[in-house]
Amino acid sequence: MIPPDPTLLCVHPHPDDESIACGGVLAKAADQGLRTVVVTCTGGEAGENLAGIDLGDEDLVAHRRRELAEALTVLNVAGRYLLGYRDSGMVGDPGNDHPDSFHGVDVEVAATELATILRTERPDVVVSDDADGTYGHPDHIKSHHVTVRAVQLAADPTAALAGEPWQVAKHYAHTLATGRILAVHQRLRAAGLPSPFGEDDIDDAADLPFGSPDELVTTEVDVRPWLERKRAAMAAHRSQISEDSFFLNTPPELDDALFGTEQFVLLSGQPGPVDASGREPDLFAGLPTAAGVSSGGFGAGSSAPPVDAASFKAALGSFVTGVTVMTTFADDAPHGMTANAVASLSLEPPLVLVSVARTAEMASRVKLGGVFALSILARDQRRLSDRFAESGREFGHEEFNGVAWEPVVTGAPVLDGAAAYVDCRVRELVDGGDHVIVVGEVVAAQATDAEPLAYHRGRYGGFLPAPDADDT
Ligand SMILES: [Zn+2]
Repeated sequence: MIPPDPTLLCVHPHPDDESIACGGVLAKAADQGLRTVVVTCTGGEAGENLAGIDLGDEDLVAHRRRELAEALTVLNVAGRYLLGYRDSGMVGDPGNDHPDSFHGVDVEVAATELATILRTERPDVVVSDDADGTYGHPDHIKSHHVTVRAVQLAADPTAALAGEPWQVAKHYAHTLATGRILAVHQRLRAAGLPSPFGEDDIDDAADLPFGSPDELVTTEVDVRPWLERKRAAMAAHRSQISEDSFFLNTPPELDDALFGTEQFVLLSGQPGPVDASGREPDLFAGLPTAAGVSSGGFGAGSSAPPVDAASFKAALGSFVTGVTVMTTFADDAPHGMTANAVASLSLEPPLVLVSVARTAEMASRVKLGGVFALSILARDQRRLSDRFAESGREFGHEEFNGVAWEPVVTGAPVLDGAAAYVDCRVRELVDGGDHVIVVGEVVAAQATDAEPLAYHRGRYGGFLPAPDADDT
């Protein structure tokens, strides 16, 4: 039973976007032994020969295809796909109206193509543009919508699509935090250098033409060890990088601020553990990676070194769990959080335990409210699991918009349609490292015969009986 290689798949509208936006994380993942895949939506037809290089007999599109191939080789990208649409150009460009333009294609059509690739490659992590298209280019906006829809389609067993359904564990948008853009802009201006963010002095992040507010950035990957590779990949797109490009003309002391990290916003999936900055340090945070699952055999050993985080997570990721939504009611408002570190603890008295990250909103609210309920989700409720795991969701009553629930005894919400629930009063909060173990005394409980939702290595499923002993 060898699990498939953990896979990172990045969707980009034009040749060169992959190196500029994701060159660091692609090189890092490949070096860690993960499989990497890049999907490029257009041929970059609207690009110009900015560097004025001699193309010989070749047209620019053919040339850019070779540049892309070279960049992907530099980044050691294993899987390469071209969707084959036509670059639409910037807003208002006549290319927007070309019949083959990516901008004009039906989202459902392009998403179906991409979903087929997702089912083939089965990526754990997908990266695309954000809803603003990073800087407003119509192809970048389109690429976002196509990817969001493709992730849904790939997982949908009823979709008219070849291949086995596949649930992407995490979908991220690459981004730049506005605080970082502002700092870089001010430093470039102070050094008398051209800034890609314009000629004007800007003092307020709100005045920037693009970028994500700092607090929305969920993930920041240190890519300094892969900076040379990222630069080489960018340089492979030589027709697109003119002599005066800011990429080639920044002083080395600005390198770290400009290119030292790549930033992302988690759009769907369960966030992994964060570091001291409050952000995930890696796209695979919380997911098993090759480093964790590849160690062969069970070594004997009192002399073994302390376990590394990846092995620990990969080992515990082998433990199949159910999925619950833990809820509480505090300060006149309900709150919910997807939880699967849940266990029954004692029969007499009836006790359960839930492990809650110290940084989670739930940790403070359950302490305040003194009550909680666990709704054990039914197999058809994985949307609720995603919903209550979504980072950046609104807390309070809005959090439950469109979700049917009722209080039972303690006032903590119990979700309609759950396979079972327990309603509890908090008995004890116990130190559990970076988590708090919440021990609850069960005051009400009920089960239905609905099939429960199961969770394993970032994927949802159901229960499958094992073969009888004499069948094996
Ligand atoms: Zn682009």
